[in-house]
Amino acid sequence: MFPEYDVLVVGAGHAGCEAAHAAAQMGAKVLLFTMDMTKVGQMSCNPAMGGVAKGQIVREIDALGGMSGIVSDKTMIQFRMLNRSKGAAMWSPRCQSDRARFAEEWRLTLERNPNIDFWQDMVVGMLIEGGKAVGVKTGMGQEIRGKSVVLTSGTFMNGIIHIGEKQFGGGRIGEKGSYGITEQLVTFGFEAGRMKTGTPPRIDGRTINYAIIEEQFGDENPSKFSYMDTPALTKQRSCFITYTNEKVHEILKTGFEKSPMFQGRIQGLGPRYCPSIEDKINRFADRDRHQIFIEPEGWDTVEVYINGFSTSLPDDVQFKALQCIEGLENAKMFRPGYAIEYDYFPPNQLKLTLETQLIENLYFAGQINGTTGYEEAACQGLMAGINACLKVQEKAPLILKRSDAYIGVLIDDLVNKGTDEPYRMFTSRAEYRIILRQDNADIRLTPLGYAIGLATEERYARMQEKQAKSEQLIKEIAQLKVKPDDINLKLAEMNSAQIREKSPIGLLLKRPELDLATLRKMHESIDNLLQDYDLEAQEQAEIFVKYETYIEKEQRMAEKLSELEDFRIPANFDYDRVKALSNEGLQKMKKVRPETIGQATRISGVSASDVQILLIYLGR
Ligand SMILES: Cc1cc2nc3c(=O)[nH]c(=O)nc-3n(C[C@H](O)[C@H](O)[C@H](O)COP(=O)(O)OP(=O)(O)OC[C@H]3O[C@@H](n4cnc5c(N)ncnc54)[C@H](O)[C@@H]3O)c2cc1C
Repeated sequence: MFPEYDVLVVGAGHAGCEAAHAAAQMGAKVLLFTMDMTKVGQMSCNPAMGGVAKGQIVREIDALGGMSGIVSDKTMIQFRMLNRSKGAAMWSPRCQSDRARFAEEWRLTLERNPNIDFWQDMVVGMLIEGGKAVGVKTGMGQEIRGKSVVLTSGTFMNGIIHIGEKQFGGGRIGEKGSYGITEQLVTFGFEAGRMKTGTPPRIDGRTINYAIIEEQFGDENPSKFSYMDTPALTKQRSCFITYTNEKVHEILKTGFEKSPMFQGRIQGLGPRYCPSIEDKINRFADRDRHQIFIEPEGWDTVEVYINGFSTSLPDDVQFKALQCIEGLENAKMFRPGYAIEYDYFPPNQLKLTLETQLIENLYFAGQINGTTGYEEAACQGLMAGINACLKVQEKAPLILKRSDAYIGVLIDDLVNKGTDEPYRMFTSRAEYRIILRQDNADIRLTPLGYAIGLATEERYARMQEKQAKSEQLIKEIAQLKVKPDDINLKLAEMNSAQIREKSPIGLLLKRPELDLATLRKMHESIDNLLQDYDLEAQEQAEIFVKYETYIEKEQRMAEKLSELEDFRIPANFDYDRVKALSNEGLQKMKKVRPETIGQATRISGVSASDVQILLIYLGR
C-alpha cells in the first residue's frame, strides 16, 4: 500500500509543513503524517506571523525557498513594520493573519505538490534498525518505511490541558494528544523533559464596545514578507488596545487557589517572555494595569483573540475578569484560555543538521526541540526537511552560520547551549544584527537555497537583479555630487548642516536626519537618478550607505570567526585522548560532539583554554 518514501514527516504544524514542502520541492518523495487533515498549518495560539526577530526569520525562510512568507502574505489582514523609528537592523515585519485561511493556504500549497502524500493517523513509534530510523508505526498498526523521519510533534506528545482544576489529555484544545513516541525514544537513550505554554480566551467581537477603546491601524503602505510577487494588501482590519485594571486583577486573584500553575499541578516551565496574566499580576504586583491587544481572527469571522490575557485560571474567573475590562463589559466568550504541558527533547541531543545524535536519519524540528513560536518552528522544519533530503541525495548538509541568518543563530543556540525553558528568538541573541536584516535576507540566503534546488530560478533571478541594481545605485550615489548653492537652503530647512564644497550625496545620506526620500525632494538630479531604481534597490542602497562602517566591521568579524567555523573536528574524534582538557570541557564536548572549532567555542562550559588545547592537538 505504501511505497518506500525518502522522507517521512510526522506532524503538519509549522515545522512539519515547511519540512514536507522543502524536501518535496528538492525532489524527495515525502509522506506527511498528521492526526487531523483539517488542522494542517494550524495557528495554535495567536493569529499573527512575524514580529521582532521573528519577522526576520520569516523573511529568511522565504529567501531560502520556504513557504511561510508566501502563505502569510496571501492570508494577512493587517501588516506593520515594527521598529521603523529605530535603525534598519531592528525593522521587523509582522502581520495579523486570517487563521482559517492561513491553514487552508498551507494545505493547498502542500496538496499542489505531487511529491507529497498524506496519511491521517497518529504515529506511535519509530521503526529503528541498526541505530537508524527506517520508518514509523501508526496507531492503526501500519509500518511505513522511509529513508529518514522528521519528527515535528509540537505540543502534542503526552499533552495535558489545564483550565483551573480541570485537566485532561490533548495536544491542543479539542484535539487528541499523541502517545508512545517519548516512551520509545527514552528506551533508546534520549533524555525528555516537560514544558508548558498557554493561550488566552477567544471572545465574540459583536459583544465588544470598540467605540471606547483605542484603534490600532496597519501601516499606511503595507509591505509584505515574501521577496516573490505575492499580492499586495489593499485593505486591512484594525486591532484595538485596552487595559486590565485593579478590579480585573482582584477578580483574577480569586482564582489563584485553583490555578494549576500556582498549585503546582503544572511541572513544566513556560515561556518567560510570554507570561500568563496571572503570572504578570503576581510578578509585577506594583503594576495597576497591563496592556491587552484585541486582534481579529480573520476577514469574516467575529471571533477575536485577546492578546496579553493568556491564562489557565478557572473559566468562570476568566469570564468575570474579562467583563471588567474597558470595552469588554458585555463580552461573550467563545472559549476559555488554557495552559498545555507537553514533552520535549532537550536539543543538545541534536547535530547542527537537526538530525539526532543517537539515531541516524531521525530529525527533530519545532516545539519538540524546546522552542516556542510558529516562526521558530517553521525555520527548523525547513532546515530539517532540507537536510533530510540532502542526506538521502548523498549531498553535503546545509548548515547556516550565526553570521548567515537568525536561523543559524537559533539552531546553533539550541544545539550548543540547549534550553530548559521555551526558547524564542530575540534580536539580542544575534551578534551580527546589522548584517542579519529583514531587507537583505534574499541576498544572504537565496544563493544557498538555489544551490540546493529549493529556491526557484525565478527567485534567484529576482535576487540577482536586486543585488545588481542596488550595487549600481550605491556607486552612483557615491559619484553624484551637489553644489552648496543648490542644496544649502533645503538643508537649513531640515536643520541639517550646510556643505562648503561640492559633495557626493552619499555623504549627505549618512546623516541621520536625511534619507533618499528627503534628498530627492531637495535636488532634481537626485530625483532623476532615483527614477531608474525601484524601492527595494533604493532601500538596500540607503541602508548600505548609512550603516557602511558598521556593516563592514561586522563582516570583518564574521570572516575572522569563519576560519574557526570552517576548522572541522573529525566526527569520531576521541576527546579522552586530549588529557589537558578541563573535566567540564571534556564532558560537554563529548556530549555535544561539536562539528567545528567555532561550534566548540560556543558550548557553555567549554573554556577558551580548552579550545586552544584542542586546536594544538588538531595540529594548529
Ligand atoms: C495553547 C498553546 C499556546 C501557545 N502559545 C504560544 C504563544 O503564546 N507564543 C508562541 O510563540 N507560541 C505559542 N504556542 C506555540 C505555537 O503554537 C508553536 O510554537 C507552534 O505551533 C509549533 O509548531 P510545531 O510545528 O512544532 O507544532 P504544532 O503546530 O503543535 O503542530 C504539531 C503537529 O503534529 C501533529 N502530531 C503530533 N503528534 C503526532 C503524531 N504522533 N502523529 C501524527 N501527527 C502528530 C499534530 O496533529 C500537528 O499537526 C502555543 C501553542 C499552544 C498549543
